[in-house]
Amino acid sequence: MPSIPARKGKRIRMNPFTASIALAIVQFCSGVIMTGLFISTPSERFTRLWALSGVFSALGICVTVAVYAGLAGSLRPLGLLLGNTLVFSSGIVAWRGLRSFYQRQSGDWPWMLVIAYAVSFTALLIGGADFTHRAYLAVGGMQVVFCLVLLEFFKGLSGPLAARYPRWTFGRWIGIVALLILSATHVSRLLLSLSHPELFMPPEMSSLGVGLIYLIPISGTLLLSVSLMMIYFERLLADKQRLATEDELTGTLNRRELVRCGEEALARAVQGRRVLTLAFIDVDHFKDINDTHGHLVGDRVLADIGALLREHCCQGGMVGRYGGEEFCAVFPDWSEAQARQIAQHLLETVRNHDFGHGQTVTISVGLAVLSPGQSSSWDALVHEADLALYRAKSEGRNAFRMALAA
Ligand code: GH3
Ligand code: MG
Ligand code: MG
Repeated sequence: MPSIPARKGKRIRMNPFTASIALAIVQFCSGVIMTGLFISTPSERFTRLWALSGVFSALGICVTVAVYAGLAGSLRPLGLLLGNTLVFSSGIVAWRGLRSFYQRQSGDWPWMLVIAYAVSFTALLIGGADFTHRAYLAVGGMQVVFCLVLLEFFKGLSGPLAARYPRWTFGRWIGIVALLILSATHVSRLLLSLSHPELFMPPEMSSLGVGLIYLIPISGTLLLSVSLMMIYFERLLADKQRLATEDELTGTLNRRELVRCGEEALARAVQGRRVLTLAFIDVDHFKDINDTHGHLVGDRVLADIGALLREHCCQGGMVGRYGGEEFCAVFPDWSEAQARQIAQHLLETVRNHDFGHGQTVTISVGLAVLSPGQSSSWDALVHEADLALYRAKSEGRNAFRMALAA
């Protein structure tokens, strides 16, 4: 056995036992955070998984501490295997939780990783590998988990839910930073332990060794738990915001939000002496669609029309469902000519759209324009557009009409 050269520099009296107790306490805190999340949201699969991950890591660390304390006796190898495998599994379970959070399937293959890890660890123990060699496997294994979790954070940007939630949230950034810190720490620990194993030798480790093995990984793990909690609460907030402002069926603004935004836009237009157009849109003979094809088909037609309106009204405008099969769109800064153009375009788009039940659907549109320098209230403008819509209906439907000058 080559003798380890004495190193100058600060050394800390930190044997694996005391360090593991510190680690156990922090892992316990991380477990409490995740379990707290689970208790507050018992119906979510991902919080169950994150809580399980917290329990696994706390248990794994406790078993390891017991082994270093000499409590395992002749079962020491078994204790080491159990402790390390539990910590590795906790990473895999946290990653599965993240996949479930982003609504992705993960199958059973992650458990193969756990089995492969346990088998490799057993092989190392049977082969009589020392502390440092076992650390290589632990570090390598956790590095695989970090990469999987990091990948998931990025995949979450384009997953099925990506369009519904803000992309670069604070929680996601914190998670990515935590993973990068953990990865960098593990890799430098691995490289340094090859060239300077004395840095990590218990019972008197160098302060750098203590930092790389215990302090930074502990902080990184806690930061990762906090980030998972944050991205969960960010999603809850986004859901709450959407429920308060969006119409569930059509994805357009709900009536309250439309009126709020419309009134604001109108006040700005009046104050700035600018033009503004308001369009009232009603589906023609919608009751017949319900009566002939059923309400479910009617709902799908409304959802499709909502999507078409969002697509064509969004540029510079806003659209909301006013009630039933009536929509309202507001276009700040759009002249009367532009308003006529968009109305004609909407009529053609809906008429030519294939709604999937073999019947053409049409709409009628009433337009009211606030001219520059004119003053009007929201209710007055809506009333004008409503009267124009009534004329479009009574003059044959599938058409738009402008409000008559007051
Ligand atoms: P018009 O051309 O004069 O507008 O005729 P219409 O049949 O479209 O108008 P009417 O007001 O007689 O009927 C509107 C129908 O819209 C009645 C109601 O059952 C239906 N409706 C309202 N909200 C919903 C909904 O959310 N889903 C479905 N499927 N139908 C709805
Ligand atoms: Mg109608
Ligand atoms: Mg109607």
